[in-house]
Amino acid sequence: MSNILKRAYELENEVTQFLRDMIAIPSMSSQEGAVIARIKAEMEKVGFDEIRVDGLGNLLGRIGAGSRVLAIDGHIDTVDVGNPDLWEVDPFKGDLRDGRIYGRGASDQEGGIASAVYAVKILKEIGLPEDTTLWVTATIQEEDCDGLCWDYLVRAENFRPDCVLITEPTSLNIYRGQRGRMEIKVQTEGVSCHGSAPERGVNAVYKMASIIAEIEQLNERLKHDDFLGKGTVTISDIRSTSPSLCAVADSCTIHLDRRLTKGETIETALEEIRSLPSFQKAGAKVWVNEYRTPSYKGTVFPMQSYFPSWVLEEDHPFLKTAVQSCRSLFGGEPLVDKWTFSTNGVATMGLHGIPTFGFGPGMEEQAHAPNEYTLVEHLVKAMAFYAEFARRF
Ligand SMILES: [Zn+2]
Repeated sequence: MSNILKRAYELENEVTQFLRDMIAIPSMSSQEGAVIARIKAEMEKVGFDEIRVDGLGNLLGRIGAGSRVLAIDGHIDTVDVGNPDLWEVDPFKGDLRDGRIYGRGASDQEGGIASAVYAVKILKEIGLPEDTTLWVTATIQEEDCDGLCWDYLVRAENFRPDCVLITEPTSLNIYRGQRGRMEIKVQTEGVSCHGSAPERGVNAVYKMASIIAEIEQLNERLKHDDFLGKGTVTISDIRSTSPSLCAVADSCTIHLDRRLTKGETIETALEEIRSLPSFQKAGAKVWVNEYRTPSYKGTVFPMQSYFPSWVLEEDHPFLKTAVQSCRSLFGGEPLVDKWTFSTNGVATMGLHGIPTFGFGPGMEEQAHAPNEYTLVEHLVKAMAFYAEFARRF
């Protein structure tokens, strides 16, 4: 067993306790202040060289001062509990049973940050190469607006590492991409009149009905990519307005959940909608939703809800280094694959072109599920991987 992996196993109790402490502090999006303070305390204990909180509320810890900059990222906000009746464990206790740690955020994805912070403990002991700087970024609001935290880091803080390693759950596999997504609104307008004489008005819902039928057909002909899969569109919400329930509707708005595969962009996705015959006939409007929820620090950093797809080429040097790190630590060939869900990679690589890949403890299928758990063994192995990769980076 390599020295790094051996040391990671020795730190098993510490990393486990740290994750259990984080789970015990609820940290839904825009309410992360208390868990950020807990992580900051652990970074201080581990001995980071610099620790700071940025203007949005992201926590950044650094070791080393070399010219090659690696960031290991984990979002530390979680989704809500959902139906509490579906939970057999307390979602905010961090129960430890048979090598599993239970609770909201265990897999998605406070475990990733626990492993990254403890990788730094190992690196402090064995040394980080002189030409390397390592930042561990505990980022916020990802569940509500993936990538917002990194759009802020790059554009407002001018923080642009050479590589971002995302610690979202991968079951200890290496992931190199994901489909993107967009939140699109389509609106039709009508003219209201008394519902007893609808022929006097124009019903916005009827105009929308033919657009809806064409969007259903549009889904069938969207692009396919061999690695990322197919682009998709579905309607997730519909609402209308009218002066009363005894009146013809004067507006109708639908919300589209659009998943983008390779080669699909904000321009192509909007153009597809604009060119629907029913859309043109109705004189409808289309736009991209905007996210403006304040962070826990009260900062508003508006972001268009456009999260581009991204793929790191299979032969990229960082991926080769990641594969070699796995081989040397665990033996055998790691699986190189992609996420089904969305991550901060939409901003780091999708919007800003920073080479990005993922390796994380925990299982993607545990994300947002009741009785969410992760594995202690995953925390240990991810810790070893982060230290090994930073040494070879
Ligand atoms: Zn996540």
